[in-house]
Amino acid sequence: MKRLAVCGSTGSVGASTLDVVLRNRSRFEVFALTAHTNVEKMAEQCRLWRPCFAVMVDESAARRLGEAVSADAPETSVLAGAAGLAHVVTHPDTDYVMAAIVGGAGLKPSLAAARAGKRVLLANKEALVMSGRLFMDAVREGGADLLPIDSEHNAVFQCLPIGGPDAGGARGVRRILLTGSGGPFRARKPDSLHDVTPEEACAHPNWSMGRKISVDSATMMNKGLEVIEACWLFDTSPDAVEVVIHPQSVIHSMVEYEDASVIAQLGNPDMRTPIAHALAWPERIASGVAPLDLVSASRLDFQAPDPDCFPCLRLGFEAARAGGSAAAVLNAANEVAVGAFLDRRLRFTRIARVVEETVAACAGAEPGDLDAVLDVDRQARARAEEFVAEAPFVASTPASPPAAAMR
Ligand code: NAD
Ligand code: MG
Repeated sequence: MKRLAVCGSTGSVGASTLDVVLRNRSRFEVFALTAHTNVEKMAEQCRLWRPCFAVMVDESAARRLGEAVSADAPETSVLAGAAGLAHVVTHPDTDYVMAAIVGGAGLKPSLAAARAGKRVLLANKEALVMSGRLFMDAVREGGADLLPIDSEHNAVFQCLPIGGPDAGGARGVRRILLTGSGGPFRARKPDSLHDVTPEEACAHPNWSMGRKISVDSATMMNKGLEVIEACWLFDTSPDAVEVVIHPQSVIHSMVEYEDASVIAQLGNPDMRTPIAHALAWPERIASGVAPLDLVSASRLDFQAPDPDCFPCLRLGFEAARAGGSAAAVLNAANEVAVGAFLDRRLRFTRIARVVEETVAACAGAEPGDLDAVLDVDRQARARAEEFVAEAPFVASTPASPPAAAMR
């Protein structure tokens, strides 16, 4: 029986994780659940799962959760804030940590779980993008097992010779081929994207995900972040990583070997597959995902990404090549820009500009420790907010907004 702390349990990956655990209750126990502010959903999860700990990072949400569950789930201790999060991910009774907090907020707990030598199921790609070296050092020094949850990286992991990241170049890996659906705007011309709304950007054709990663998929910054993530996870250079658009999302990624063999991992696009894989590795368990019907899928298409449509993908590659603090700055600026877009304070087409300008203004030497990473993150966020403020989104009811609002 493995005891699991699910960080970000009220989110999309969190919910998929609990669904897989529900199907495998004889193997896993939910020891702790954590969330930010969603008291209602967390209370519901506590009643169902009766964890030892429930953490709300927001203090007032923790108070409300305490009142909500004191009668129905009296065995659950409610903790608050970053200290509560640190407590559950490093607790001696926690075996596995699902790191599914979105954004830079997940860095500290993901790093703490790695240092504590847990099995870390890493969905929180931003942690690796911000501080890849620190994170991979923490995994090694803590003796943690790091299992990628991001579907592409989980696919690569499955395609490597011993099903693991230790494979690397020595075992004849030539290239890593990351697939991406191209998101909801794959077939659109760049100049038609000016007025897209958060609702349109979040309507992903194949995957059901949280809002931030959905916008990242629409800009393809998600793939840019994944290139950086792949370089750290599989100890490779961005020149050995290629991105291919594959609209059906059936091939989740591929590994090409020196002899020109290409091994791919296929399946229906559902995060429960990589989650089940990482929970059970090296064994296999039921995920609840429908079997892949290749005959009804009928065709698999591939195309090269259009750099004019997806400048964020180029920015991801550039940050991976630049090294230093570029990826941490890129991540911080992207979070600010995406947040502003979701709040209707920034146009969709300005997201890439804000990120590019912030990287040009702030990127520097590689931060040597966690405090330095957090400093870089803070400064980049502040600078990105200034760039957002320089090009405010002026909400317009007429079909054509005034020229001043269209920068
Ligand atoms: P989501 O928005 O659905 O859920 C985010 C979770 O994080 C919620 O439980 C929320 O309470 C928690 N959270 C948010 N801000 C927090 C904060 N400041 N402190 C503590 N907790 C906080 O996001 P998601 O789509 O489940 O994505 C989670 C992570 O997994 C992201 O890093 C994303 O890139 C990655 N990922 C997601 C998918 C997917 O299919 N959704 C696929 C691959 C990778
Ligand atoms: Mg992915």
